[in-house]
Order: sequence, then structure tokens, then C-alpha cells
Amino acid sequence: MFWQKTLAHPLSFSGIGLHGGQAVAVAIYPAQANQGLRFVRADLPGRPQIRAHYSRVTDCTRATTLGENGCTLSTVEHLLAALWGLGVDNALIQVQGPELPIMDGSAAPFTRLLMETGLRSLPWPRAHVLVKRPVELREGDQWMRVFPGDPRISYTIDFPHPLIRRQRYSMAVKPGGFRREIAPARTFGFLKEVEYLKANGLALGGSLDNAVVLDDTDVLNPGGLRFPEECVRHKILDAVGDLALLGMPLVGRLEVGRGSHALHLKFMEHLMTQDDAWRIWIPSARERRNRPRWAPAPLWEGLPA
Ligand SMILES: [Zn+2]
Repeated sequence: MFWQKTLAHPLSFSGIGLHGGQAVAVAIYPAQANQGLRFVRADLPGRPQIRAHYSRVTDCTRATTLGENGCTLSTVEHLLAALWGLGVDNALIQVQGPELPIMDGSAAPFTRLLMETGLRSLPWPRAHVLVKRPVELREGDQWMRVFPGDPRISYTIDFPHPLIRRQRYSMAVKPGGFRREIAPARTFGFLKEVEYLKANGLALGGSLDNAVVLDDTDVLNPGGLRFPEECVRHKILDAVGDLALLGMPLVGRLEVGRGSHALHLKFMEHLMTQDDAWRIWIPSARERRNRPRWAPAPLWEGLPA
């Protein structure tokens, strides 16, 4: 639980990009300790790399887009959520296109592939961002704050729609809980927005197969919702994916209200500039052997060995 992890073997898959509507092939390779999560635009000359780091975010209006070395990569958050949610610290992700495939709009296809492939520990302890005092960011009616404590994400959303209204969900950040409670929650959108996006050449790959779509009163997907509070669970999924961009697991109780990719990103920047509010915690050999009571619980406790 204290050791960095990567994939046991390479894996590959393909799917449709949400915005461009084109097929995209992806291959994920194991990486050494301290390499972090890195993307490769394998379709471009020179195969430029893009680090999964919040300093590399170039756009976060609808999805999270990263950019580095003269190229960009969109919709990285659901795959990052699956990797981070299962405790994968290091991997090289080769993508044959400008955006990640949307799959079914959730992270479940990714977690399934990762579980089938298996993970392995690396001989290097994991570094964490350990929160020492509360930090808060407010933007209009949105808020995000973190308190010292065991890793947990509590999320509240509020939409003027009869099937959503006010929803709250809270999850202890552990791989088993992420896989069962959060990964299957799909992205959602409103029919009016979808029509507008398509008219403007966006969301060309979007369909009822890869998003929950709501009209004024109902869910249009024939199978309905996967969870009564699927929307807020998906917001936690997005938050886990965006938090992967810190590069180290966050040890603290996180609370988000009416969040968005933009708010998640602003909060990470805000938190990291207040360097008296956190410290880097690398479990010592003694802490790894017999975790004393005062030591914080490790973030990914419960990951299958
Ligand atoms: Zn999402």
C-alpha cells in the first residue's frame, strides 16, 4: 500500500472520441518509479510527450485538455480517474489522436481493463501531499475545501432539474470503493446543450451510448440511470481524474460544491501555492513496518496486492 504502482503488462483498446467522433487507439505501458503518468501523441511526428500535471492544463471548459511540446490532448480525465482511482502512479499512455476515447462515458471500461491486466508494486515508496491545515476556495456559488484527515471526497451538486436537484455523495478514497461506487457513473448532459454542441461541430461522437442525456423532465437513455445519484458520483469521478494532475495522492478530506473542471484546477493551484498548508509525506521504513497511530492512513489502502 505504501509502494508506487504500475501496470503488470501493457494493455490496449480503442474507441470513439467524443468531440471529433473519430476512432482513437490507445496503448498503456508499464513505467518505472517516479515517471508519473505521461501521454504520448503517437500519431504525430516525433511522438511528443505530455505530462499529466496541472501545470500542463490548457483548457478545461467541457473536458480537461493538456498541452505540451506543441500539441494537445483532450478528455484525459476519465482515464486518469481510472488509473489514479486504482492507485497507478506510473504509466506511459500512447494515444493515436487528439482526444481519449469516451467509451461509455464512465471510467468502468478502463478500470475493467486495468483489473484484468493487473498492477504491480515498484521498489519505491509513494510520496503524498499531506494536508496540515484547512484550505478553501470560493468562486461565486462554487466552493472547494480540504481539511486534514483520511482521504475522502464529498461532493454536492445542485441543478434545477426534477431528477437531479440537490445531490450529495461522499466516498473514502480507496481503490475498491472507487471501482464499485464511482467508476461506473457516466457523464451527463442536457438535450438542449447537446443539440447546441452538435450544431457547432462539437460532441460529434456523443450519443446515448456514452452519456446520460436529460430533457426537461426525464432521462432519455432507454436503460435509465445506473445509480439514483449517478450525476454527483460522476462529478467525484471527474475530481479524482483532475486530482491525478497533482502528481501525488492528496491526503485530506476534500469537499466540493457545484464544482467543475475549472474549479478543480484553480483549487489545486491555490492549494499548492500555500506551502504552509501541506507537506510532502513519504512513509519511512518504520512507518511502513508498523504504522504508528499518529500516521495518516495511506491513500490507497486496500489495493489488491
Ligand atoms: Zn466527466
